[in-house]
Amino acid sequence: METIKRNILLNPGPSTTTDTVKLAQVVPDICPREKDFACLMKGLREDLVRIVQGDLAEYTSVLFCGSGTICMDVCLNSLLPKGKKILVVNNGAYSARAVEICAYYGLAHVDLRFPINEAPDLSSVERALRDNPDVALVYTTHNETGTGLLNPIRKIGALAHRFGAVFVVDTTSSYAMIPIDVQKDNVDFCMASAQKGIGAMTGLSFVIGKIREIEKSKDYPRRSYYCNLYRQYDFFEKTGEMNFTPPVQTIYATLQALKEYFTEGETAKWARHTRVFNAIRRGLDKLGFREYIKRDLQSGLVAAALYPDDPNWDFIAIHDYCYERGFTIYPGKVEKRGMFRLCALGAIDEADVEAFFKVFEEALRVNRVTIPILYKETKE
Ligand SMILES: *Cc1c(COP(=O)(O)O)cnc(C)c1O
Repeated sequence: METIKRNILLNPGPSTTTDTVKLAQVVPDICPREKDFACLMKGLREDLVRIVQGDLAEYTSVLFCGSGTICMDVCLNSLLPKGKKILVVNNGAYSARAVEICAYYGLAHVDLRFPINEAPDLSSVERALRDNPDVALVYTTHNETGTGLLNPIRKIGALAHRFGAVFVVDTTSSYAMIPIDVQKDNVDFCMASAQKGIGAMTGLSFVIGKIREIEKSKDYPRRSYYCNLYRQYDFFEKTGEMNFTPPVQTIYATLQALKEYFTEGETAKWARHTRVFNAIRRGLDKLGFREYIKRDLQSGLVAAALYPDDPNWDFIAIHDYCYERGFTIYPGKVEKRGMFRLCALGAIDEADVEAFFKVFEEALRVNRVTIPILYKETKE
């Protein structure tokens, strides 16, 4: 069999996949309305709930054809009762996107902002809930992928529940990597996309949530036809199928990725991501790069390194040098500070990161970037 070139993706998803996942997409043509296909989706939906330790009597998963943002859209537009409000605990680009979605649908919401390099102040969250008794849905992001900041979801969820609100978390960039237990973590709804933590392909996204809350939402205002959670759930329950055409080949890839997930196991997989992340930190430290987020606040999946204050630093040149050699790094900009990200997603291990840093250091030298890296400000 022909071998497929292996690229190491250090961008925040899609991630490096195994060849077995890639090849799982090459299957005989099938109409997704066949019973055989519905059977595959039933097992898949249950496995997605198992990954976050959900009790299948209480939690279900609902599949959508789209990128991860579709799940944010679905949860926000479908789970808000009439006359109620959403509270977004916002300290990053993804929660800011949730606020934008609220604005697009004209949903009443409170945009509770915090600095993007700090954990949210829980007493302010509590105050906002006390001041806004009509909040029915609290929303936040677990791993803010733009910076790599990890939010304290268990505590925010406990507050939401204390004030009688449903807790929705965007776990797109932590799901199937950081161990999550929906019951213990006070999560009513979470979400992800097949191309991130699971290590499958783009095009399939899913919401995992409380069956009781989904059933309640049947009578909530209907704000979208294609992106309504109850509608999609109800169709699955009645027919075992997606309401509209599913991403067939991506679903085959996801089934294989789930097999590989359960073979590796939650603990071993998280240990591998941690090993990869530690190798990223070692590499950055050795070159003298600084990170945007304090280490004790990081998710352990995304390192956001500040651009050097060096006239020879040119992200595109460095990126291209690495890309041509099979390694992808990702730019980002936060509060006018240029930075790039190295992420520990995907089917990679420590040796891949070490191989990357050899090439990366070469790229710096070829471009005459000073090592150790120069910064104008002295270190705090
Ligand atoms: C990747 C990601 C999404 C989804 O982004 P898409 O570009 O729509 O796939 C949503 N939330 C977080 C936190 C993410 O990392």
